[in-house]
Amino acid sequence: MSHRNPEAFCGLYCGACPVYLKRADDWIVKIVLKEHGLAFEDLHCEGCRSRELSPSCQDCPTRDCAKSKGLDSCSSCDQMPCTRIAGFASVRPHCKEVAGNLTFLRDKGSDAWLEAQAFQWQCKACGRVGSWYETVCSACGGLLPAGYEP
Ligand code: SF4
Ligand code: SF4
Ligand SMILES: [Zn+2]
Repeated sequence: MSHRNPEAFCGLYCGACPVYLKRADDWIVKIVLKEHGLAFEDLHCEGCRSRELSPSCQDCPTRDCAKSKGLDSCSSCDQMPCTRIAGFASVRPHCKEVAGNLTFLRDKGSDAWLEAQAFQWQCKACGRVGSWYETVCSACGGLLPAGYEP
């Protein structure tokens, strides 16, 4: 049974993470493989809430913080956006979305957010899901406007 879940505690959309999507050529995947001395076949992640986590996210202090407060997500924390969440903006371009995602989650709920995220990252021409740093669909060549430049 799959335990895949694209909603991270911090507000990231794991559904567009290249590790989650198993994109071997993605630069983030290559960094994770190198940092953890793994072969691509041994890298698995089913999302932040799953039982099968990438080593790059296993010791996440944000998830630990939310769990320690008994929260389902940082979106329901009365300290949001805390300094940790605010600090995400300077980590990598895709992390800039976290604060806005948490506000959306808080105001409109998980189902609406997941629906919006699935639409945002999907190639409108062929339906393939683009990852955070894909700006052109590798399946059909269509533009992926949600993708960031690295
Ligand atoms: S590696 Fe991290 S960001 Fe990517 S899917 Fe797994 S938990 Fe989410
Ligand atoms: S203080 Fe609240 S918003 Fe900040 S990381 Fe912890 S749970 Fe998330
Ligand atoms: Zn496409």
